[in-house]
Amino acid sequence: MSHLAMLENPDQEVNSVMLVDGQLNYVAEKSATSSVYNRYEIDEPPEDRQADVERQLCTEKLLAQYRQHLQDKSSHHLGYPFNLELNVGPLQQFQNLHINNLGDPFIESNYGVHSRQFEVAVLDWFARLWDLPKDQCWGYVTNGGTEGNMHGLLVGRELFPEGIIYASRDSHYSIFKAAKMYRVQCIKIDTYSTGEMHYADFASQLLQNTGRPAIVNVNIGTTMKGAIDDLDEIIRILQDCGYEDKFYIHCDAALAGLMMPFIKHAPRVTFKKPIGSISVSGHKLMGCPMPCGVTINRSKDVTAVMSTNIEYVASRDATITGSRNGHAPIFLWYTLKSIGYKGICREVEMCIKNAQYLTSRLKKIGVSAFLNKASSTVVFEKPGDQAFVRKWQLACERSIAHVVVMPNVTTKMLRIFVQELAESRHAFLSRTEANIPCVAMDIGQENCLCSLHDVVVHHSRI
Ligand SMILES: *Cc1c(COP(=O)(O)O)cnc(C)c1O
Repeated sequence: MSHLAMLENPDQEVNSVMLVDGQLNYVAEKSATSSVYNRYEIDEPPEDRQADVERQLCTEKLLAQYRQHLQDKSSHHLGYPFNLELNVGPLQQFQNLHINNLGDPFIESNYGVHSRQFEVAVLDWFARLWDLPKDQCWGYVTNGGTEGNMHGLLVGRELFPEGIIYASRDSHYSIFKAAKMYRVQCIKIDTYSTGEMHYADFASQLLQNTGRPAIVNVNIGTTMKGAIDDLDEIIRILQDCGYEDKFYIHCDAALAGLMMPFIKHAPRVTFKKPIGSISVSGHKLMGCPMPCGVTINRSKDVTAVMSTNIEYVASRDATITGSRNGHAPIFLWYTLKSIGYKGICREVEMCIKNAQYLTSRLKKIGVSAFLNKASSTVVFEKPGDQAFVRKWQLACERSIAHVVVMPNVTTKMLRIFVQELAESRHAFLSRTEANIPCVAMDIGQENCLCSLHDVVVHHSRI
């Protein structure tokens, strides 16, 4: 096969490239998985010019196949909360520039190839969204929700070095990772089967530790079930338990932070309440093509405990990392500028409607399913068939899996998904002669359609 022919026909499978006597040879191997990864090996560019040209073609071919692979995977992706729909046309012109926002977004550093003007505009947008006056706001564009959580909890720990971190057991693993990194004691609070914090347990834990301040992680949309902790209730409990001003609240709003403000009757997350920080992911609902996020703090806290002047960059060091991705703020800025507040409202409404549609379809085919209020995370019985789980890239935990309905997910995609799930589940249950799995432990008896708990539904069907 000629190399050009292969380039023109990227579907043709080339399994490996071998150097024979300094020449490149394509070897089409039949044995399926054998050398998929060998093709990625980084070998030395050959001296011979002809061989080098051929090698270059081969690399381009590999990249074309990889792009195709990503496109295929994207069209069957439902499990993680990433919005895979984004039109970034005009931003491609920045691809060949190194843009680095190292240091503090609000302080000009000596390094000139940065996108701080975009970053500050994005921070202003979020400050407005969460009611924090510009002159009281500090924040930055992070590498994702995890970094925002690390930063928020670090500010809390610096303000209250003797504090204890309180987080519900449904919190994202980054919270427990941060507690470990900072060597701060962390108390896990029980949750209801909806995934929301168990407030009585929270109060009882607080009362056992009144001598030490509380650093509280509040979930605005848990990872697995999309549950929203009641911020007002948490503040009330802190005050009732005598914590007055001896607490710091960080809101982990990685996914739902951008959805809640747009949903009627959802509880308000705002800096008008005594919270210290909010962080959100930029690659989830907003669909940035690279992991990123936004974290917002009160500037007085950051000035008090996070400021170290660094002569080398002529800036203040108040972020977690040194170099920071300068492309991400441009993507965030472009997205907000293109679709705006109203555009996000429309997308959120559509996501929630599609999630409700999916939930009812699942129940209709007898699959236990649950959807929290103001959420687009549909939780359901974990499929038994691993190939199905991998195909749709579902995140699973104990007896459940979830689909996070993002703006790129269409009803057509959901229809196909439910159809394939019904088929794969039927085949799996007959093959293994298994019972319909019970999910009562994870999403409550009232949402479980196993033979033990499905009594009510059974009756209504007869
Ligand atoms: C996704 C998620 C995170 C982590 O965000 P990354 O951007 O993946 O680092 C944190 N908290 C919650 C609730 C999440 O869903």
